[in-house]
Amino acid sequence: MSRTEVSEMKQIHQPIPLGTLIGRELRNEKVEKPTVKYGQAGLAKKGEDYFLTKPDYQRVPGDPSTSFSVFAIFDGHNGVSAAIFTKENLLNNVLSAIPQEIGREEWLQALPRALVAGFVKTDIEFQQRGETSGTTVTFVVIDDWTVTVASVGDSRCILDTQGGVVSLLTVDHRLEENVEERERVTASGGEVGRLNVFGGSEVGPLRCWPGGLCLSRSIGDTDVGEFIVPIPHVKQVKLSNAGGRLIIASDGIWDALASDLAAQSCRGLPAELAAKLVVKEALRSRGLKDDTTCLVVDIIPYDHPVLPPTPKKKQNLLSSLAFKKRSQSSTKGTSKLASVGAVEELFEEGSAMLAERLGKDFPLDSNSGLFRCAICQVQQPPGEGLSVNSGPFFSPASRPWEGPFLCASCRRKKDAMEGKKPTTRSVIS
Ligand SMILES: [Zn+2]
Repeated sequence: MSRTEVSEMKQIHQPIPLGTLIGRELRNEKVEKPTVKYGQAGLAKKGEDYFLTKPDYQRVPGDPSTSFSVFAIFDGHNGVSAAIFTKENLLNNVLSAIPQEIGREEWLQALPRALVAGFVKTDIEFQQRGETSGTTVTFVVIDDWTVTVASVGDSRCILDTQGGVVSLLTVDHRLEENVEERERVTASGGEVGRLNVFGGSEVGPLRCWPGGLCLSRSIGDTDVGEFIVPIPHVKQVKLSNAGGRLIIASDGIWDALASDLAAQSCRGLPAELAAKLVVKEALRSRGLKDDTTCLVVDIIPYDHPVLPPTPKKKQNLLSSLAFKKRSQSSTKGTSKLASVGAVEELFEEGSAMLAERLGKDFPLDSNSGLFRCAICQVQQPPGEGLSVNSGPFFSPASRPWEGPFLCASCRRKKDAMEGKKPTTRSVIS
């Protein structure tokens, strides 16, 4: 942009001083970077819901052009310690799994696997404390127009876009509703069934035994089987420059309100008010049966005060059909809806197998000659037999130098999550 063009812009948009614009250009920050506004509301029944809002976190400290935002909800059960521990440690554990000093695009590409590493590391660290509580996690990273959501459990995140299309960015890890997860848990040695009350009749939702948890994934839950895994479903999408609204909430909202109703109930309102209205709407239909927490996050085109209201049309189907997909995504069975094209899907993966989630290029550190554990980031010398490829469960032992590499304790965790006891290793190969 020339200096003349900049002055012309100044005449049209008085509030932006010329110096600010030039400063942005010098810092290579695009003027079209969106604004993020958010609001939170909630009502406690048990006091086990926690949330995290970090609207302006700098990847490179002191450099505002590297800022991104994090929003998360942690719905605890069987106590609050897992929710609090995860709130305090997860972000750092995710960030420590991304190499320093890489560009924005590389950072965004590394993020899905760093989220997997961070979730598993946080779970291992919490379980070492010997406490038994557990928590759902829905963890949202917003960097410019790119939204990355990682989740375990049933606290949903939905996306409402300008076309009036509501999309689910999470998967509900509930045994009752998720056949794939039931099969995984059963194959890993868990039993899935309902509670047997006196007299032999079965009540309530499907649960996993031992433990009796209704969820198939969580952080914590030390006393439930290791097949209740902390490996998140991760979805990464890029919004159009029209922006969009995220509604992140615990199941207290979603048990009362369908996703498209939640989105419709607050369209056109600023985020703070929208969050209050969603909670109010959920309570109106169901009463306060559970902890109810809602975060509304608007990703707004630069210089727009609020998202413009969307006309309420019948086409507001809850659907992932609106995504324009890239070939690298591994999700099966999702079709396209070319007429919308508002949201580009960059990545989606929900496998509970670490081998499919961590990538192979966790490198040998050229300075120290050490391998780095892909989960906990501990460094170790090569030749200790710790490559995931060196054992019978990952790819062939003929390529033991190929990553990802896991330290002994993260390797034990991996095998336990897959229902493979160390003593049975030689049998399965
Ligand atoms: Zn490790």
